[in-house]
This record gives sequence, structure tokens and C-alpha cells, in this order.
Amino acid sequence: MKNAEWFERARQVIPGGVDSPVRSFRAVGGTPYTVVSGRGAYVEDVEGRSYLDFVQSYGASLLGHAHPDVVAALREAVELGTTFGAPTRGEVLLAELLVSRVPGLEQVRFVSSGTEAVMSAVRLARGATGRSRIVKFDGCYHGHSDGLLVAGGSGVAQLGLPGSAGVTAGAVADTVVAPYNEVPELDETVAAVLVEPVAANMNLVAPREGFLEGLRAECDRVGALLIFDEVITGFRLDFGGAEPFFSVTPDLYCFGKVIGGGLPVGAFGGRRETLSHLAPSGPVYQAGTLSGNPLATTAGLAVLERVRPTDYDELSRRVDRFGAGLEEAVASAGLVARAPRVGPLLGLYLAREPFEAPRNIAEARVLCDNGLYAPFFHALLERGVALAPGAYEILFVSMAHREEDLSRTLDLVADAAALAAAS
Ligand SMILES: *Cc1c(COP(=O)(O)O)cnc(C)c1O
Repeated sequence: MKNAEWFERARQVIPGGVDSPVRSFRAVGGTPYTVVSGRGAYVEDVEGRSYLDFVQSYGASLLGHAHPDVVAALREAVELGTTFGAPTRGEVLLAELLVSRVPGLEQVRFVSSGTEAVMSAVRLARGATGRSRIVKFDGCYHGHSDGLLVAGGSGVAQLGLPGSAGVTAGAVADTVVAPYNEVPELDETVAAVLVEPVAANMNLVAPREGFLEGLRAECDRVGALLIFDEVITGFRLDFGGAEPFFSVTPDLYCFGKVIGGGLPVGAFGGRRETLSHLAPSGPVYQAGTLSGNPLATTAGLAVLERVRPTDYDELSRRVDRFGAGLEEAVASAGLVARAPRVGPLLGLYLAREPFEAPRNIAEARVLCDNGLYAPFFHALLERGVALAPGAYEILFVSMAHREEDLSRTLDLVADAAALAAAS
């Protein structure tokens, strides 16, 4: 059966044919490929076509797909049973590893998704401070919990939604939205400021010099907590995430994606004293049947135990060269590209005229909505290169993407940009 047939079947029984809106190709048109398998930097679809994959499960995959060490660890773990509702060794080992790598992290609790991690961190911040308001930034995505579904990035931005139907005014009444890269003035009603330390859901927007430091100082001034949503940056930006990278220490951290090694996981944590507000020791309730799942902790450990600080340095260098190459390849076709890089994180904006790197969603939106991405995306897909099917997403270069994969991509990018230019 072909991609179109599978997608038609999916649409009969799954709303829109997908379990997460961006996968539907709504933003770029056409029919999504249905994946059968992945290996390293590549995925293969039901028609037997292979794609060099820059989606990498939106960043969940750091080593590439089906890494042999991860597969072997999971094989062993699955034989022992997959969920118990009792403490397991894996969660202790993974928590110890995270705490050892992130300077300000003393304790961490596991959940099953990034959404849950952020939602729980926000509840904890409110419980710990006795305050209600949360400040978030326009275009930052923090999962799909009610209170944070305003001015979201990623699929929310792509669909042009201010938020979501089904979210009551009451649910977002205590969420204040501020422009990214500007330090808001807070008052003592604010429980927490929630931020993506590198904005990676409005394509890629780097924090300007002083932004994160400014948030830290402003939170300290009024006694609010600073929450880093590191669901993308955690253990992808570098060995210890955004805190060591920017030398700014938040009060709470949220993780997901990479720490599950490709299985469903999330985690939130901070100082012991802050976490003591959580049940069972404290009054802030939070729980989960599958939290700390043995398969997820096994996969997360297999990935994180394998990477060294130098792997991130090498990946950053490879991504930096690739980003420069993307800009040149697009320019050779008569368009203008900017490929912002922060460590191994890589964005890509296309335009017809020269432009400045976006500093917030308003600036990113002009570029993401200029109509160039869809033809560019499809031209690459036809040539066997899969970018995310939406201009608000970034490119995920895994540790399995080899130099030759990337240099081969640059030739195809030049062709795709020429087609987009003519569109
Ligand atoms: C993906 C993402 C989330 C949500 O994680 P899910 O596992 O999809 O629930 C939260 N915050 C950021 C920054 C993300 O990129």
C-alpha cells in the first residue's frame, strides 16, 4: 500500500490522520509519508523510499534512529517487564545522571511527556510561591496544557491560532504573554517566568545578549521562579543543557525529548527545597501511572551514557558548517537564507530580499509565512531529504548525520531553492 492509501485509512479513524497536527502536512500541502522504519539519519516509508531525516522526532532522537546500543538495551529491558507501579532502578540511575550533568539540578521527577513536565513545573511554581500568574513569551511552545496554550509556537503558530478552542478564559487568565527577547517588568503576583532558553518553536530565535540574565535578575527582584523549558535544549544544546551554555541558573527545569531516547518521557526538577513542595512530602499533587517507565529510562540512559561533551562540540562544528553551506546554497539560487545556529541547534529562514535574523515571533512570522517554505520543502522531499513539514520548526541534525550526508544535502538545497525561487 502507498502513502496516500495509508493516510486515507488513517483519516478514517484518526482525526486529520495524525496524532500531532504538524505531521499532517497541512502547512505545506500534499500527503505525508508513512514511516516504516528508521536507521541512523534515515527513515524509510511504506513505498520503500528512503529520506535523510532532519525531523528526528522533533529532537527526541539525538543519536539517530534505532542506534544499536539503544536497541540492545531496550531488548534486555523489555524481557524484564515494562511497567510495575513501583520504584525501579532505571529511574534512579537516570535521575542521578541528569543531576550530575546539570549544575543547579538537585532533584528531578519523571513524567511521560514534555507537556506534562511543563504543566507540573508550573503547578509546582504556583504551589511553592503561593502566587498565580505565569509569564510566557509569544511564540514559545510549552506543550498543549490549557494554561500554556496561548501565543504558542510550533503547530499553534503554523495554524495561525491565538490559542485553542476548548481552552477557557479562566484557564489562561493567569498567563501573561510577553515578547521574546525583552525582559518584562514583573510584580509580586508572578509565580514564575517560563521560557525556552533558545526559542526553537518559532523556527530558531537565539536569546539576545542579556535576555536570560535579565529574566534571572527580574525574577530575583520580585521573588518569582525562573523556569527553563529545556524540552528541546536539554542534552541537545550541550552536555548539560542551557544552564551551563548560557551561565544562567533557573529555579526549575523541564526536560523531555532527548532524555527518553526515543520513548515517551518528560521530567521536571530543580533544588531539593523547591521540589519538597511536591507530594508525597508537600501539598502540590502530581502523579503518573507510567511515570519513570522502565523502557523509557533504559533508552534515555543508553543515549545519555553514550555521549561525551566532545560529541556536542563536534556536532556544533558540523552544524555550523552545514548552516553556512545552506546559506550559500540558497544564495546560489537567487534567494536569501539565514540559518541561525546556537550550538547544534539550527534554524532556516528563506526570503527573496535580505533580512535581519528574527528576534521574536512577529519577525519570524513574516519570514515563515512568505510562501517559500512549502515549495522548498517539497522539492527536497522529492529528492529524498525530509525537513519538518512546517516553517516554524527547526532542523534536527543528529549525531548520526555524517559529513557526506550533509554535503550531499547542500547540492539538493541549491536545486530546491531554485525551484522555490521560481514558484
Ligand atoms: C516538544 C516541546 C514540548 C512538549 O513536549 P511533548 O513531549 O510534545 O508534550 C514542550 N516544550 C518545548 C520547548 C517543546 O519543544
